[in-house]
Amino acid sequence: MLVQQILKSKGDGGVVTVTPDTRVSDAAQTLAERRIGGLIVSSDGDTVDGIISERDIVRSLALRGAKTLEETVEAMMTRNPVCCSRQDKSDAVLARMTEGRFRHMPVIEDGKLAGIVTIGDVVKARLEELAMEKDALEGMIMGY
Ligand code: AMP
Repeated sequence: MLVQQILKSKGDGGVVTVTPDTRVSDAAQTLAERRIGGLIVSSDGDTVDGIISERDIVRSLALRGAKTLEETVEAMMTRNPVCCSRQDKSDAVLARMTEGRFRHMPVIEDGKLAGIVTIGDVVKARLEELAMEKDALEGMIMGY
């Protein structure tokens, strides 16, 4: 399965981005409201400057305390995150996320942000694929 099939199945919900100068308290609010765990940081909506996840915020809260919430996302985002393309295989994306211990991957097309896939998206797609394969095999064996 390709990343583009996963993006298609997610629908055209768009990617939630924040600018580098967004306050961490506002980013946390967006994460809570949208029920997501990570945000792409982009100054223009096309270029990926970084990624900030709930883990970055929690880590900074533990290290620096409540003043973290007054800082900007730029102070704690991961720069140059690992990205993928629509043509990448979902298995390769899953392996990269597992090795790198992160759960979000921006999708880039023609140098611009085209979507985001999470480890949850990839696992869900793989489980659906496995269920269909199982049904097809059962159908072949049972002769229907
Ligand atoms: P996550 O598991 O995605 O919540 O993120 C765990 C850590 O990895 C955080 O420090 C993130 O900023 C970082 N991270 C998230 N996504 C990526 C990515 N695609 N490439 C590199 N680092 C990432």
